[in-house]
Amino acid sequence: MQMENLTALCKRRGFLFQSSEIYGGLNGFWDYGPLGVLLKRNVKDAWWNDMVMSHNELTAAAGAPGTYEMTGLDCTIIMHPQIWKCSGHYDLFHDFMVDCRETKRRYRYDHVIGRWVAGRRQTADGSHQQKVFVTTMETENTQTALDEAALKFFGLRKKDIESLQWEGGITPISKLTSFENVLGPDAKHAGTLTEPREFNLMFKTTIGALGGEEDVSFLRPETAQGIFANFKNVCDSTRVRIPFGIAQIGKSFRNEITPRNFTFRSREFEQMEIEFFCRPDQSAEWYKFWRDKRFAWYTQMGLSSEKLRLREHDADELSHYSCGTADIEYQFPFLQPGEFGELEGVAHRGDFDLRSHMEGKLVKEGNELVVEKLPNGQPKHRGSGKDLSYYDDLTKERFVPHVIEPSAGADRATLAFLCEAYQADTAPDEKGEPQERIYLKFHPRLAPVKAAVFPLVKKDGMPEAAAEIYGELKKHFSTFYDDKGAVGRRYRRQDEIGTPYCITVDGQTLQDGTVTIRDMDTLKQERVKREEIVNVLKEKLN
Ligand code: ATP
Repeated sequence: MQMENLTALCKRRGFLFQSSEIYGGLNGFWDYGPLGVLLKRNVKDAWWNDMVMSHNELTAAAGAPGTYEMTGLDCTIIMHPQIWKCSGHYDLFHDFMVDCRETKRRYRYDHVIGRWVAGRRQTADGSHQQKVFVTTMETENTQTALDEAALKFFGLRKKDIESLQWEGGITPISKLTSFENVLGPDAKHAGTLTEPREFNLMFKTTIGALGGEEDVSFLRPETAQGIFANFKNVCDSTRVRIPFGIAQIGKSFRNEITPRNFTFRSREFEQMEIEFFCRPDQSAEWYKFWRDKRFAWYTQMGLSSEKLRLREHDADELSHYSCGTADIEYQFPFLQPGEFGELEGVAHRGDFDLRSHMEGKLVKEGNELVVEKLPNGQPKHRGSGKDLSYYDDLTKERFVPHVIEPSAGADRATLAFLCEAYQADTAPDEKGEPQERIYLKFHPRLAPVKAAVFPLVKKDGMPEAAAEIYGELKKHFSTFYDDKGAVGRRYRRQDEIGTPYCITVDGQTLQDGTVTIRDMDTLKQERVKREEIVNVLKEKLN
């Protein structure tokens, strides 16, 4: 599947639009259209239902070391700035970027890749031999992008491509020792990239009308911290006992240096996060449980196993407080062959977060986490000073719980489900001629529209009967009514948005009260009594 085909379909049928498009768009921001909003809501509802609502705390789930409870929260996007100082985001939430002095563009250092190439450069004064490292941002077809950049730089035409001598393979610029002969991704001259510099990814904002430095706060870059800040409130206001999880779905914001790949890397996005609190001596088992449970969820929701993988981080990739992190990754079509993109991270966070919010920002000293100090001995960032430990009244022990964090992106999951759903085949049209058919094959729970109702023709009482059926179905499922154009074309329009079932009212309906139900996937039609449609669909959709 070509990514362009999917992005075109998303725009044409109202799944996704570029934000502020009428003003030329805003890089890194996306709007969900009428169908996109239904799809994304289904993804979030499925997650919330499967992780929180349908969880039975009285029985141990398969693979779990014991029973556990689940509850939810909805915290604010703007929180006390001290939260981000203690969480580490204020000091550490950086990406490295390089600027181009010529084009004034900025790139994420770890995303610029390129290759050495030598050739004769044609200029106004003649030609000379030169060797440069041409670059591009990682794309679906990197060598094609490098070819184009090299042709432009050397002043050659496409047919002259063979005169260029490529050396070595494609490598990230981070592997180079100097940028002197590097041609920036959009530059005309070599040697215009700056050394990499740190750039904090949090969006700053000012609270209140006066707007002094002390009124600066941040839009949250993750939903997790609101859960830690409310840990005590949840314990005190409910009867939850450890082990338990708090789930939250909400917007997060990161001022990504190079937003790209459709919604995969946006500046405003939604997360679905769980902070799971447990006894330290059981945390390794709970980590494995959540890692496997979350991986299984994606396969149950329809992602194919060969495109999905679970990747345990190497020891040197782990955050300083973590004793295990795994990424759940999907082979998005915009990545290089063999490359995977992160859908969700499942991290063992130890007691880092709760202790940081109690004591102040922690750093690792040897094998210990200690409060980071200024040269004068004062804590660098003060904690709340509140006691965020937990008292277990059964074992009469007090401890700071360990945390397992499955952190998923609602937009990345939605994008993966869209990529996976995209199918093309040939199917006969009304005249029996083979025609290319594009359809989206979602898991039925995710399909934005579950059923469409058509009168075969706009006469003989068919529209009236179809309208009645439509009204009945709408009470149960997201349903669409269409009486415009040839019925074959109406089927195709529904296939293209992934509607699994189309119900057609025809001449026979008026005689014997039956309709046809057509299955998008198999193209088979069956006749069903009008009064049985709801039950038949419920059964099929489950
Ligand atoms: P990446 O390495 O791709 O930047 P990350 O490791 O920083 O991701 P986390 O901090 O673990 O991501 O965030 C948890 C989840 O939030 C990610 O797995 C992803 O699904 C989602 N997410 C993070 N950043 C973005 C973004 N810029 N756009 C869309 N979703 C995002």
